[in-house]
Amino acid sequence: MGVNQHDVEFRFCPVCGGELDISIPKPDEPSRLICGGCDFIFYLDPKVVACTILEKDGKILLLKRGINPQKGKWVMPGGYVDRKEAVETAAVRGTFEECNVRVRIEDLAGVYSYPGKLAVVIVYKARYLEGELTPKDETQAAEWFSEKEIPWSDLAFRSTTDAVRNYSSAKQARQALSE
Ligand SMILES: [Zn+2]
Repeated sequence: MGVNQHDVEFRFCPVCGGELDISIPKPDEPSRLICGGCDFIFYLDPKVVACTILEKDGKILLLKRGINPQKGKWVMPGGYVDRKEAVETAAVRGTFEECNVRVRIEDLAGVYSYPGKLAVVIVYKARYLEGELTPKDETQAAEWFSEKEIPWSDLAFRSTTDAVRNYSSAKQARQALSE
């Protein structure tokens, strides 16, 4: 509620081809797209994105986007989760597809979502296994960044900035503890 879910205009029912109307099926729930012909409720789901934060020799991997939105800006490796795919599998797959590197998932780093935004971004800490770093698919460049080199003003999305910042501050806190 308060968030307009119907920013993508679907007009027809995917089940019977009847026209969809916006209405409120249950009083305390948001409005939905409902078919006038067969009563099918077309739930508009979020888009789930799985990413990895990969650190090697004290540097983290960022990829330069080759496509819009945010072409030319830097993101963590990853991609959309397919239907019925485990989120961890999608994170490993997306990382390989974008930069040719095989990784193993270690921990959940964070989950990032924002009002009015379709994406739910799930970020894992991952370990490098093998593969030569090579920008592939929709990626222009792939580079390792030390803490000081992170291009904060050229990160692609709010989730990128939040995830990298949280990762860096957690790392600094760990280092402070071990000193
Ligand atoms: Zn229908």
